[in-house]
Amino acid sequence: PSLPDVDARVSVCRACPRLVTWRETVARDKRRAWAEEPYWGRPVPSLGDEDPRVLVLGLAPAAHGGNRTGRMFTGDRSGDWIHAALYRAGYAERPTSYAAGDGQRLVGVRMVAPVHCAPPDNKPTPAERAACGPWLDRELQLADSVESILVLGGIGWQSVHAAAARVGWTMPRPRAKFGHGAQTVFGTPEGRAVRVVGCYHVSQQNTFTGRLTEPMLDEVIGML
Ligand code: SF4
Repeated sequence: PSLPDVDARVSVCRACPRLVTWRETVARDKRRAWAEEPYWGRPVPSLGDEDPRVLVLGLAPAAHGGNRTGRMFTGDRSGDWIHAALYRAGYAERPTSYAAGDGQRLVGVRMVAPVHCAPPDNKPTPAERAACGPWLDRELQLADSVESILVLGGIGWQSVHAAAARVGWTMPRPRAKFGHGAQTVFGTPEGRAVRVVGCYHVSQQNTFTGRLTEPMLDEVIGML
Protein backbone atom coordinates (compact mmCIF):
# COMPACT_ATOMS: atom_id res chain seq x y z
CA PRO A 1 0.00 0.00 0.00
CA SER A 2 0.92 3.62 -0.56
CA LEU A 3 -0.35 6.91 0.87
CA PRO A 4 -2.82 7.33 -2.05
CA ASP A 5 -4.13 3.81 -1.27
CA VAL A 6 -4.76 4.92 2.32
CA ASP A 7 -6.56 8.04 1.04
CA ALA A 8 -8.85 5.92 -1.14
CA ARG A 9 -9.62 3.45 1.61
CA VAL A 10 -10.25 5.97 4.38
CA SER A 11 -12.67 7.94 2.22
CA VAL A 12 -15.20 5.07 2.34
CA CYS A 13 -14.81 4.21 6.04
CA ARG A 14 -18.04 3.91 8.04
CA ALA A 15 -16.66 2.69 11.37
CA CYS A 16 -18.17 5.43 13.58
CA PRO A 17 -22.00 5.45 13.42
CA ARG A 18 -22.41 8.86 15.10
CA LEU A 19 -19.97 10.51 12.70
CA VAL A 20 -21.43 8.80 9.62
CA THR A 21 -24.85 10.21 10.56
CA TRP A 22 -23.45 13.67 11.31
CA ARG A 23 -21.32 14.04 8.19
CA GLU A 24 -24.22 12.92 5.96
CA THR A 25 -26.82 15.06 7.74
CA VAL A 26 -24.66 18.17 7.40
CA ALA A 27 -24.07 17.35 3.73
CA ARG A 28 -27.80 17.01 3.11
CA ASP A 29 -28.98 20.07 5.07
CA LYS A 30 -26.02 22.31 4.04
CA ARG A 31 -25.41 25.91 5.07
CA ARG A 32 -27.34 28.50 3.11
CA ALA A 33 -24.18 30.04 1.61
CA TRP A 34 -23.38 26.74 -0.11
CA ALA A 35 -26.93 25.50 -0.68
CA GLU A 36 -26.32 25.09 -4.41
CA GLU A 37 -22.98 23.29 -4.06
CA PRO A 38 -22.39 19.60 -3.56
CA TYR A 39 -21.05 18.57 -0.15
CA TRP A 40 -18.49 15.78 0.19
CA GLY A 41 -20.13 14.33 3.32
CA ARG A 42 -17.60 11.48 3.70
CA PRO A 43 -14.34 10.91 5.55
CA VAL A 44 -11.84 13.53 4.40
CA PRO A 45 -8.57 11.95 3.25
CA SER A 46 -5.19 13.51 3.89
CA LEU A 47 -4.08 16.17 1.43
CA GLY A 48 -0.80 17.15 -0.11
CA ASP A 49 2.54 15.80 -1.18
CA GLU A 50 2.69 12.02 -1.64
CA ASP A 51 6.33 12.03 -0.57
CA PRO A 52 6.18 14.55 2.28
CA ARG A 53 8.99 15.94 4.37
CA VAL A 54 6.53 17.56 6.77
CA LEU A 55 3.19 16.39 8.17
CA VAL A 56 0.71 18.97 9.47
CA LEU A 57 -1.64 17.28 11.89
CA GLY A 58 -4.87 18.94 13.02
CA LEU A 59 -7.87 17.43 14.78
CA ALA A 60 -10.79 16.69 12.44
CA PRO A 61 -12.47 18.24 9.39
CA ALA A 62 -15.00 21.03 9.98
CA ALA A 63 -18.64 20.36 9.13
CA HIS A 64 -18.81 23.09 6.47
CA GLY A 65 -15.06 23.13 5.71
CA GLY A 66 -13.41 19.82 4.81
CA ASN A 67 -16.70 17.95 5.07
CA ARG A 68 -17.97 20.21 2.30
CA THR A 69 -14.91 20.41 0.05
CA GLY A 70 -13.52 16.90 0.63
CA ARG A 71 -10.09 18.45 1.13
CA MET A 72 -8.37 18.63 4.49
CA PHE A 73 -8.09 22.18 5.85
CA THR A 74 -9.93 23.93 3.03
CA GLY A 75 -13.14 25.91 2.91
CA ASP A 76 -13.04 27.57 6.32
CA ARG A 77 -11.07 30.14 8.28
CA SER A 78 -8.77 27.57 9.86
CA GLY A 79 -7.81 26.37 6.43
CA ASP A 80 -7.25 29.94 5.25
CA TRP A 81 -4.79 30.48 8.09
CA ILE A 82 -2.77 27.36 7.53
CA HIS A 83 -2.61 27.64 3.73
CA ALA A 84 -1.50 31.28 3.99
CA ALA A 85 1.20 30.37 6.51
CA LEU A 86 2.44 27.44 4.42
CA TYR A 87 2.61 29.76 1.41
CA ARG A 88 4.63 32.33 3.36
CA ALA A 89 7.06 29.56 4.31
CA GLY A 90 7.38 28.20 0.76
CA TYR A 91 5.41 25.01 1.40
CA ALA A 92 2.43 25.92 -0.83
CA GLU A 93 2.13 27.36 -4.32
CA ARG A 94 -0.84 29.58 -3.45
CA PRO A 95 -1.87 31.48 -0.30
CA THR A 96 -5.41 30.09 -0.37
CA SER A 97 -7.24 26.90 -1.16
CA TYR A 98 -10.99 26.59 -1.36
CA ALA A 99 -11.82 23.54 -3.46
CA ALA A 100 -10.45 20.80 -5.68
CA GLY A 101 -9.03 22.14 -8.93
CA ASP A 102 -8.13 25.55 -7.46
CA GLY A 103 -4.48 25.17 -8.42
CA GLN A 104 -3.18 24.77 -4.90
CA ARG A 105 -0.22 22.42 -4.50
CA LEU A 106 1.48 21.68 -1.22
CA VAL A 107 5.22 21.25 -1.61
CA GLY A 108 6.72 18.67 0.73
CA VAL A 109 3.76 18.92 3.10
CA ARG A 110 0.91 16.52 3.75
CA MET A 111 -2.03 17.49 5.95
CA VAL A 112 -3.28 14.66 8.12
CA ALA A 113 -5.77 14.28 10.96
CA PRO A 114 -6.30 11.90 13.86
CA VAL A 115 -10.04 11.89 13.01
CA HIS A 116 -11.13 11.95 9.36
CA CYS A 117 -14.84 12.70 9.79
CA ALA A 118 -16.37 15.97 10.95
CA PRO A 119 -17.65 15.57 14.52
CA PRO A 120 -20.53 17.49 16.14
CA ASP A 121 -19.17 20.58 17.96
CA ASN A 122 -15.70 19.67 16.60
CA LYS A 123 -15.43 17.15 19.44
CA PRO A 124 -14.78 13.52 18.59
CA THR A 125 -15.36 11.06 21.43
CA PRO A 126 -12.47 8.99 22.82
CA ALA A 127 -14.00 5.93 21.10
CA GLU A 128 -14.06 7.73 17.74
CA ARG A 129 -10.47 8.86 18.18
CA ALA A 130 -9.50 5.27 18.95
CA ALA A 131 -11.41 3.95 15.92
CA CYS A 132 -9.62 6.36 13.58
CA GLY A 133 -6.19 5.71 15.09
CA PRO A 134 -5.18 2.92 12.67
CA TRP A 135 -5.45 5.33 9.72
CA LEU A 136 -2.89 7.63 11.36
CA ASP A 137 -0.71 4.62 12.15
CA ARG A 138 -0.61 3.78 8.44
CA GLU A 139 0.30 7.35 7.59
CA LEU A 140 3.27 7.27 9.93
CA GLN A 141 4.42 3.91 8.61
CA LEU A 142 4.13 4.87 4.94
CA ALA A 143 5.43 8.44 5.10
CA ASP A 144 9.02 7.27 5.25
CA SER A 145 10.53 10.58 4.13
CA VAL A 146 9.00 12.61 6.95
CA GLU A 147 11.46 14.68 8.96
CA SER A 148 9.06 16.73 11.06
CA ILE A 149 5.46 16.96 12.20
CA LEU A 150 3.63 20.18 13.07
CA VAL A 151 0.89 19.33 15.56
CA LEU A 152 -2.01 21.74 15.90
CA GLY A 153 -3.57 21.46 19.35
CA GLY A 154 -3.37 19.24 22.40
CA ILE A 155 -5.60 16.43 21.13
CA GLY A 156 -3.44 16.10 18.04
CA TRP A 157 -0.39 16.03 20.30
CA GLN A 158 -1.84 13.13 22.32
CA SER A 159 -2.93 11.35 19.14
CA VAL A 160 0.42 11.51 17.41
CA HIS A 161 2.19 10.25 20.53
CA ALA A 162 -0.27 7.35 20.78
CA ALA A 163 0.06 6.48 17.09
CA ALA A 164 3.86 6.69 17.18
CA ALA A 165 3.95 4.36 20.19
CA ARG A 166 1.65 1.86 18.45
CA VAL A 167 3.89 1.67 15.38
CA GLY A 168 7.01 1.20 17.45
CA TRP A 169 8.54 4.67 17.28
CA THR A 170 10.56 5.78 20.28
CA MET A 171 10.07 9.01 22.21
CA PRO A 172 11.52 10.67 25.30
CA ARG A 173 10.22 9.61 28.72
CA PRO A 174 8.31 11.27 30.22
CA ARG A 175 6.49 12.41 27.11
CA ALA A 176 6.89 16.07 26.24
CA LYS A 177 3.95 18.24 27.22
CA PHE A 178 1.97 20.09 24.56
CA GLY A 179 2.43 23.82 24.24
CA HIS A 180 2.94 26.39 21.52
CA GLY A 181 6.52 25.88 20.39
CA ALA A 182 6.90 22.61 22.36
CA GLN A 183 9.37 20.24 20.71
CA THR A 184 10.20 16.59 20.97
CA VAL A 185 11.91 14.03 18.76
CA PHE A 186 10.58 10.61 17.79
CA GLY A 187 12.80 7.81 16.52
CA THR A 188 11.58 5.40 13.84
CA PRO A 189 12.54 1.71 13.69
CA GLU A 190 14.67 2.55 10.60
CA GLY A 191 16.67 5.03 12.65
CA ARG A 192 15.18 8.26 11.36
CA ALA A 193 14.71 11.16 13.76
CA VAL A 194 11.37 12.96 13.40
CA ARG A 195 11.03 16.38 15.01
CA VAL A 196 7.60 17.05 16.49
CA VAL A 197 6.59 20.69 17.06
CA GLY A 198 3.48 21.87 18.89
CA CYS A 199 1.33 24.79 17.74
CA TYR A 200 -1.90 26.25 19.06
CA HIS A 201 -4.71 25.12 16.80
CA VAL A 202 -5.66 27.50 13.98
CA SER A 203 -9.29 27.46 15.14
CA GLN A 204 -11.20 30.72 15.14
CA GLN A 205 -11.37 30.47 18.92
CA ASN A 206 -7.60 31.02 18.94
CA THR A 207 -7.10 33.26 15.91
CA PHE A 208 -9.98 35.67 16.68
CA THR A 209 -8.85 36.13 20.26
CA GLY A 210 -5.20 36.67 19.39
CA ARG A 211 -4.08 33.59 21.30
CA LEU A 212 -2.51 32.53 18.01
CA THR A 213 -1.13 35.25 15.72
CA GLU A 214 0.43 34.99 12.25
CA PRO A 215 3.96 35.66 13.59
CA MET A 216 3.48 32.90 16.19
CA LEU A 217 2.40 30.48 13.46
CA ASP A 218 5.29 31.50 11.19
CA GLU A 219 7.73 31.00 14.05
CA VAL A 220 6.76 27.37 14.72
CA ILE A 221 6.66 26.56 10.99
CA GLY A 222 10.19 27.90 10.89
CA MET A 223 11.16 25.24 13.46
CA LEU A 224 10.26 22.36 11.11
FE1 SF4 B 1 -13.76 5.87 9.83
FE2 SF4 B 1 -12.20 7.64 11.07
FE3 SF4 B 1 -14.50 8.43 10.00
FE4 SF4 B 1 -14.53 6.89 12.17
S1 SF4 B 1 -13.72 9.01 12.03
S2 SF4 B 1 -15.81 6.64 10.32
S3 SF4 B 1 -12.72 5.56 11.80
S4 SF4 B 1 -12.72 7.62 8.90
